[in-house]
Amino acid sequence: MKQFVKKEHQAAAIEAIKELVRIPSILDESDAGKGHPFGKNVVAALDKVLEISEELGFKTFKDPEGYYGYAEVGEGQELFGILCHLDVVPAGDLKNWHSDPFEPVLTDKGLIGRGVQDDKGPTIASLYAVKSLMDEGVTFNKRVRFIFGTDEENLWRCLDKYNEKEEPITLGFAPDSKFPLIYAEKGLLQAYLVGPGSQEVAVNLPGTMNVVPEVAKYSGDKLAEVKEQLKALNFDFEEAGEAITVIGKSTHSKEAPKGINAITRLAMALSEIVDFAPLNFLGKLVQENATGETVVGKIEDEQSGELTMNFASLTITPTETRIGVDMRMPVTVEKAELVEKLTAKAAEYDLRYEEYDFIHSLYVPLDSELVQNLMSTYRDITGDLVSEPIVSGGATFARTMNQCVAFGAILPDVAGMAHQPDEAWSLESIYKAMDIYAEAVYRLCV
Ligand SMILES: [Zn+2]
Repeated sequence: MKQFVKKEHQAAAIEAIKELVRIPSILDESDAGKGHPFGKNVVAALDKVLEISEELGFKTFKDPEGYYGYAEVGEGQELFGILCHLDVVPAGDLKNWHSDPFEPVLTDKGLIGRGVQDDKGPTIASLYAVKSLMDEGVTFNKRVRFIFGTDEENLWRCLDKYNEKEEPITLGFAPDSKFPLIYAEKGLLQAYLVGPGSQEVAVNLPGTMNVVPEVAKYSGDKLAEVKEQLKALNFDFEEAGEAITVIGKSTHSKEAPKGINAITRLAMALSEIVDFAPLNFLGKLVQENATGETVVGKIEDEQSGELTMNFASLTITPTETRIGVDMRMPVTVEKAELVEKLTAKAAEYDLRYEEYDFIHSLYVPLDSELVQNLMSTYRDITGDLVSEPIVSGGATFARTMNQCVAFGAILPDVAGMAHQPDEAWSLESIYKAMDIYAEAVYRLCV
């Protein structure tokens, strides 16, 4: 294998990462306007990366509305996409940082600053990796296009816009996760089940969709009976004056079966006391099941495991019942089929389905040319023959395109520090990632 990335590319990449980190490109809706939908700082980071790309010899394009931009090199029918993002999450409590998050410093831990791992560092590492191929004078047999998103940490409106207006990629990767690669991510479906209200029972338990509720408070006129039922069910709860709090165990919705849902536990107790169809849905049907099995039957596949179904919130007022549900769907499951089953079952309990959010799954088969190529590149460069392709993990831009996986940039033995204070990435790891990207693009596009 040839050493494409030279010292000069490494040095220039570090300088470019620093320049980008200095721009605090955090979503600021209050600063949104024409040409800068996510605030002026976010678009400044986009402008900066396009300026750098142009200096390196890429052709660049900026969306006139300011949602995204791209930098391209090479010729050919096929379009190879590298999906990056320039926005970052806020620094959080500055007390937890040992340096200014937006003034990058180099220490023995590497380069430190908000965005060095997520995703400004990987963006620049892959950009200069391709630059090293350009300096080698290679002829690309595809167009290699870096697509720069600016709203990844929030609603992905940038790539929605890209997909609405631009040419789709033929294949590609997103350098916004870890090595070796992520080839399957479950689909996400969030909805409300909405039904009539009740004069007999009132509950107000707003929750966050992607979290298994840890507590469920009740302070209605059935307190004594609820306590009795909870005791009979052997469920933990705490008492404080005229209220009780059912105690569960919180986890991320994607692993709902590992948690204990305090809301469904409370519903189980309440539905022994009150006969109300929407409440019975949780208390009699769902109960403690978090895989959806009691609601839609067993749903799983070989590629990505079982469905998870987290009932994240519950409100019952005199006029309405509203239940929030978060589902992570196995990659081969058809959304329409799942929705149909859920809708039918919910209807038996006077509830109707109301969709809130949907992000479809990512799945590129292990025996595809893309995965085979990227895996062998990773193994040849690192000598790591043990790490296997990964299922699930966080959601990346790779989901928004066909034939696209998440590929790096964080090596398996490197601490992932995205969104954390003192976000750091060692120079050694940055250079290794650059070597992997250069070789991967060489094998796939030259
Ligand atoms: Zn990211």
